[in-house]
Amino acid sequence: MNEEDVVVEFLTTDDPEAAAILLSIIIAYYMDNYDLEIAEFASENELSIEFNPVNKTAYEEYLTDLFIDMRLRVQEKQIELENEDKATAKALLLIFVQQNYERLKVTEMGNIKQTVQLEVVAYLQAMDYNVRIFKRWVAHSGCCDVCKALNGTTIPIDQPFLVNGQTVELASGKEFIYNYIDRGVAIAHPNDQCYIEFILIFN
Ligand SMILES: [Zn+2]
Repeated sequence: MNEEDVVVEFLTTDDPEAAAILLSIIIAYYMDNYDLEIAEFASENELSIEFNPVNKTAYEEYLTDLFIDMRLRVQEKQIELENEDKATAKALLLIFVQQNYERLKVTEMGNIKQTVQLEVVAYLQAMDYNVRIFKRWVAHSGCCDVCKALNGTTIPIDQPFLVNGQTVELASGKEFIYNYIDRGVAIAHPNDQCYIEFILIFN
C-alpha cells in the first residue's frame, strides 16, 4: 500500500483501532521525510546533522492533530451523504477525501521543508556567535493578497512571521486578521507556495 491508500483507509475506516494503527504509519511516513529533509539541507550546507531538532516533536503533534481533524471532517461528510445512493455516496466521499488530502500533503511537505531549514539554520546560529541570521518571506507568483502583503518581511529566525490575532494590512488598504496557529515559516494558509530565504549577517 502506498501512503495515499493508507491515508484513504485511515480517513474512511469505521474501526477506531485500525485507524490508530494507520495513523501511526502515516505520521511515521511524514516524520521520515522530516529526517530526510534535515539530512539533505544539512549536507547541502556541509553541516553535520548531529544535532537535536528542536521543532520536531511539536511538528509531529501538530501533524497528528491535522489528520485527526480531517478524519472528523470526513465522518461529517459521510453523514451529509447519507441520503445519496450507496455508490454515489462512496464516489463523492472518495473525491472529498482525495481533495482534502492532496491539499494537506502539498502544504505539509512545504511546511516540513521550511521547518527543517529553520532547525538547521537556528542550530548554525547557536554554534557561531559571529553570525546573526534573518529570514525573509518570499511570496510565490500568483499568491493571495495576504501573502503579497507579507512578501519581503524580514525578521530574526527565532521570531514568528504570523501570530494568532495579528492584523495584516493589505495593498487594497483593507485589513486582514490572521486567526490561526503562530507561524514561524512562510505559510499563511493551505496550499501556500511561499517560502523562506535566509540572510546571514557576520559581525
Ligand atoms: Zn497566500
